[in-house]
Amino acid sequence: MADVTVAQFAEVLKVPVEKLISQLDEAGLSVSGAEDTISDDAKLELLTFLRRSHGKKDDPSAAAPKRITLKRKSQNELRLSGAQGRARTVNVEVRRKRTYIKRDVLEEKARKKQEELDQKRKAEEDRVADEQREIEAKRKAAEEEERLRKEQEEKARLEQEQEARRVAEQEAERRRKEEEERQRQEKIRRDREQRAKETRYGRKELHVAKDKSGQRKKRRPKRRALAVNVDSKHGFERPTAPVIREVTIPETLTVSDLANRMAVKSTEVIKIMMGMGAMVTINQMIDQDTAAIVVEEMGHTPKLLKESDVEDKLLASSATEAEELPRAPVVTIMGHVDHGKTSLLDFIRRTKVTEGEAGGITQHIGAYHVETNKGNIAFLDTPGHEAFTAMRARGAQATDIVILVVAADDGVKPQTIEAIQHAKAAEVPIVVAVNKVDLANADPERAKNELAQQEVIPEDWGGDNMFVHVSAKTGEGVDELLDAVLLQSEVLELKAQASGPARGLVIESSLERGRGAVATVLVQSGLLKTGDTVLAGKEFGRVRAMFDAQGNEIKEAGPSIPVAMLGLSGAPDAGDEMMAVENERKAREVANYRESKGRDVKLAQQQAAKLEDVFSQMEDGSRKSVNLLIKADVQGSAEAIRQAMIKMSNEEVAVKVVSSGVGGITATDVNLASTAGAIVLGFNVRADGAARDALKETGVELHYHSIIYEAIDQVKSAISGLLSPEVKEQIVGLAEVKDVFSSPKFGDIAGCMVMEGNVKRGLPIRVLRDNVVIYEGELESLRRFKDDVNEVRSGTECGIGVKNYNDVKPGDQIECFERFEVARTL
Ligand code: GDP
Ligand code: MG
Repeated sequence: MADVTVAQFAEVLKVPVEKLISQLDEAGLSVSGAEDTISDDAKLELLTFLRRSHGKKDDPSAAAPKRITLKRKSQNELRLSGAQGRARTVNVEVRRKRTYIKRDVLEEKARKKQEELDQKRKAEEDRVADEQREIEAKRKAAEEEERLRKEQEEKARLEQEQEARRVAEQEAERRRKEEEERQRQEKIRRDREQRAKETRYGRKELHVAKDKSGQRKKRRPKRRALAVNVDSKHGFERPTAPVIREVTIPETLTVSDLANRMAVKSTEVIKIMMGMGAMVTINQMIDQDTAAIVVEEMGHTPKLLKESDVEDKLLASSATEAEELPRAPVVTIMGHVDHGKTSLLDFIRRTKVTEGEAGGITQHIGAYHVETNKGNIAFLDTPGHEAFTAMRARGAQATDIVILVVAADDGVKPQTIEAIQHAKAAEVPIVVAVNKVDLANADPERAKNELAQQEVIPEDWGGDNMFVHVSAKTGEGVDELLDAVLLQSEVLELKAQASGPARGLVIESSLERGRGAVATVLVQSGLLKTGDTVLAGKEFGRVRAMFDAQGNEIKEAGPSIPVAMLGLSGAPDAGDEMMAVENERKAREVANYRESKGRDVKLAQQQAAKLEDVFSQMEDGSRKSVNLLIKADVQGSAEAIRQAMIKMSNEEVAVKVVSSGVGGITATDVNLASTAGAIVLGFNVRADGAARDALKETGVELHYHSIIYEAIDQVKSAISGLLSPEVKEQIVGLAEVKDVFSSPKFGDIAGCMVMEGNVKRGLPIRVLRDNVVIYEGELESLRRFKDDVNEVRSGTECGIGVKNYNDVKPGDQIECFERFEVARTL
C-alpha cells in the first residue's frame, strides 16, 4: 500500500481530519498537517492505539497477541566421507519451533500467582491471628477463673476464721456462764445449809437430818459429752488436674447420691457399674463396698463413713446452747421379790397421780410423772433389775435415784444385794424404803443393820443414805419418802435444757394393732413435739401423737416427762437412745446402719457357739453325746466318715450320726440338724443359698472338710482332750463362672463374677460344680480387664486362670479359701 496523506486516510476512515490529527497526536504519531503522509506502520500503530483506547478495552489480547509461535525451517547439507573414500551428501532439515509469550501475560500470570500466594499467606495469617486471639481469650478466662477462685478462697478463709472466732467466743461464753452458774449454785447451797440450820430450831423437820446433806457426796452421773465437731478443714480446695476427690460413702446410698458425691452424672455411675456387671437404676440402694469400688474405678479416693461419723454429726447438729433449767428426778424402785415394789408404786400412783380427763382409762406406759407440792418426780415403772441392767449395758442412764425397797419383816435378800450393786456401779444414790412397817413382826432395825453391812449406811449413823419407814399398805411414810427423794434430787442439782431438739431414752416399746409401734420414751433434755423427726435405736419416724401416763394426748414433753409415742418405723429396744433430728435422710441413714450392724452382732453371737464349746462342754461331762450330720461328694467318703465317727464313741461320749448322704448341703439338711441338735460336716460339698440362709437363721454349726483324716482327727482330738493346733479353713471368696475364654498364654480363663467376699491372688482355690468340689488347686492368674490384680471384690467381674486345670464350665463356682493354724483353747 502506498503512503497516503492524513486527509485521505481520514476520508477512508470517515472521520473529520482534525479528529484524526488529534488522535494521531494522542497515539504519539505527531503530524504537522492534513497533507502529511502517513506510513502503513503509522496506520497500524494508530489502529492499535484506537482499539486499545476504545471499545475492546477489556480484551487486551485484541491489542496484541498473547503468544506468538514461530516456526522456522532450515536446511543444511552434510557432507560425509564414505567408507571407501567416496563422499556422500545428506540433506538435513531442521524444524524449529519457538513460542514467544507476551510479557504482560507472563506478568499477569506471575501477578496472579503472587495474588494466590498472598491470599494463602493472608489466610494463614488470619488463622494464626484467630488462634492467637483464642489462646488469648482462654488465657483471660483462666486468669478470671483464677481470680474468682482466689477471691472465693479468701472468702472461705475469712468465713472459716470468723467461724473459729465465733466458736471460741461461744466456748468462752459457755465457760463464763458455767463458772457463774457454779458460783450461784455454791451460794444457793450455802444459803440452804444456813436455812437448814435455822429450821432446826424453828419449823417442823423431816426425820432426816438435813444438816448432814453437806456430807452427802454430790454425785452427778457421768453423761456423755456432746462431741461438737468443729471441722477446720472445710475451706476451699484448690482444683488440680485431674481432680481426685475424697468421696465419703455412708453405709448405704443411692446411685444418684453416689454420683452427686463424685460430682458426675448418674448415668456415668450406671455405666461404670454396668461395666462391672451390675445393672442398677438411679434410685437403687447400693452398699458401701460396692460404692467404694465404683469410686476407685472413677479414679477417686473412697472414704468410708462409719456410723459414728454420721451419728456424731447428727449429735453435733442437734446440740444447741439452750439454757439449762432444773428438772424432776427420775426414780427407779428396786428390791427383792415380794418386798412390795409394785404395791409401793401402785400406792403412789393411786394417791399422787391426778387422773386424766380421758376418764381414768389409764394405760400402762411403763413410767409416770408425780406432782407434789414440793416438786415433781418421774417414776420408771420397771421394777425388775433387767430393765435397769439392760439400759446400763447400753451405756444409757435413765435413773437419777434408786428407791431400794426392803421389807422390814424379811431384811436383806439376794436381790436386795444385787440392786445395791447395780446402783453403786451406776453411781446412783440410794434412798431406802423400809417397807411393811405396819406388820407386827416388822423389824426396821434389823433391816438397817443388814443394809449397813452392804455399805448402805443411814445418815444418822454417819452414812450417805436416807432411810424412810413406809407401809405400801397403809400409806404411812410415803409422803416422807417422796420428800426424801426430792431432797436427794436437790443435792444432785439435776438440770436439763428445756428447749431445743429433744433427747431421751426408750423405756419400753411394743407393736400394737391399729397404732403401729408404740414407744414409751423418757425425755431427758430438750422439748419433744408432735411432728418432730426422731431417731430411736434402729428406728426412725415422725412423732404422730404423744400420750402421757394418764392417756391424755399431749403436744409436747420436756425433760423428765415420760410419754407414749406413735410414729416410729418399728419398735425400738428398751434402753435405746432417742433423739429429735433435723434431717430425716440422716436419721434413716443411721437407722439403716444400726440395723445392719445389729444383724452382724446377732450373727456373731450365734457363731460364738462353736464346735470347741460343744466339745468343751462334753469334756466337762455336761454333754454326753455329739450329733453329726454328714454330707459328702461321694457315697464312699460319706460312709467312711460315718464309720470312723461312730467308732470314736466311748463310755463317756456317744458320737451319733443322724444322717449321712451325698451332694450339696440343702436347707432340709440344716433344718434336720437343727432339730437333732447336730453339727453339719460337709466333706467336699458346700451349702447352697437356701441352706446358708437356714444356717444363719438356726445358728446350726457347719464345718467344711476336704481331708477325711483331718475331720476325724478334729473330732477325735477334741474327745480325747489332745488339743493340737487346729488348721482352720476360711472361705474368703466365691466367684461364679460366667464364660470361659481360651488364652494362648494362660490356657483357659474363666470369666467370673465375684458373688461373695474377695478373690485374692496367691490363695488356694476349689472348683465347685453343683456345690460339689470337682477340683482343688491354685489360682494361676487373676485379672481385671487387661490388668493383673491382687484382689477382686464382691460384685466385680474378673478373669481367673486355674493352674493345671482346663475343664471349667460356665455355671461352675470358684471358691477361694485360706488356711491358718490356731492354737486350741478350751
Ligand atoms: P414386789 O414383788 O416387790 O413387787 O412386791 P409386791 O408389791 O407384789 O408385794 C408383795 C406382797 O407384799 C403383796 O401381797 C403385797 O400385798 C404385800 N405388801 C406389799 N407392801 C406391803 C406393806 O407395806 N404392808 C403389808 N402388810 N403388806 C405389803
Ligand atoms: Mg412386783
